[in-house]
Amino acid sequence: MPASIERPPPSNLVLAVAAAVLAAALVALGVATTAGGGSHRALRAATATSAASDHTAASARDGADATGATAPTPGTGPPTTAAAATTAPATTVPTVAAAARPTATAPTTAPVPSPTPATAGTASLAGKVIAIDPGHNGQNWSHPAEIDRLVPAGGFEKACDTTGTATDAGYTESAFNLDVALRLASDLRTLGATVVLTRANDDGWGPCIDQRAAIANAAHANVALSIHADGGPAGGRGFDVNQPALLAGFTDAIVGPSHQLALDVRDAFARHTAMPTADYIGSGGIDTRSDLGGLNLSAVPKVLIECGNMRNATDAALLGAAAFRQQAADALAHGLVSYLTGSGG
Ligand code: ZN
Repeated sequence: MPASIERPPPSNLVLAVAAAVLAAALVALGVATTAGGGSHRALRAATATSAASDHTAASARDGADATGATAPTPGTGPPTTAAAATTAPATTVPTVAAAARPTATAPTTAPVPSPTPATAGTASLAGKVIAIDPGHNGQNWSHPAEIDRLVPAGGFEKACDTTGTATDAGYTESAFNLDVALRLASDLRTLGATVVLTRANDDGWGPCIDQRAAIANAAHANVALSIHADGGPAGGRGFDVNQPALLAGFTDAIVGPSHQLALDVRDAFARHTAMPTADYIGSGGIDTRSDLGGLNLSAVPKVLIECGNMRNATDAALLGAAAFRQQAADALAHGLVSYLTGSGG
């Protein structure tokens, strides 16, 4: 396995400046950015080994693969954003900090505690293309023939998609995935990124897992992220980031950068949301999978996050709260910024 676990270097000076601004903003908020840099790397070093040796197939808990959808609606069109974020000079840190203050001073009675409020800071993603893949789709259940059709998954075939899971209260995973994806897309566009969604509503079926990967590949995305929630054992809690295993002829080029992405997303989600790392699957919030077509067929760095376990009452209460979903989206934005700019999460 290539030891290419270093993050991609900032593509230009603008990103470097943006990263500095982000760091300054975090400092203003009282966030320990130095710890984020130091312990961050120590944590990565400590977890790299165990993560790499994880099991291969956690079976079809969630059918998690369901990284696919209707060929019809790949992208969401170019965002009209860029402006707001990219034009802010590095000297406007005070404004950024002030804008983020409200989050830090939120009432302590908030039902969804935020360990460390995430703040995206100023524009740092201009020029970046990010593919977001909300798992499953709201009408998959009514299209069994289409969903069960076998499609390429990386040297083997797998069902086009699955229905996904749901909480006891009836909140579906497909709805959760889309809601977090749309909140994340908004965050990223505000930061200047171009966002491509594999589906933009919860009213249809698919796209199939191979198509979901193809959408990100065709967009030449700098990074891709699939958003899911698991249907694990009722007694198990937590989130889990699935990274691609080395699959010769398929994932060779993305294993290294995807591992870095997994670490950045894991660290950000653990730091900025109330959800703990999974205690029933993976290791330290990371799982290596060779059975997920959506990862196997990706030509760009990609991971799939199970944001929590919908079959666990405590997790379900969080996943069902809009405040948590915003917290999750903000955390994922933080993880992507960290990966794309090396600014720390
Ligand atoms: Zn799923």
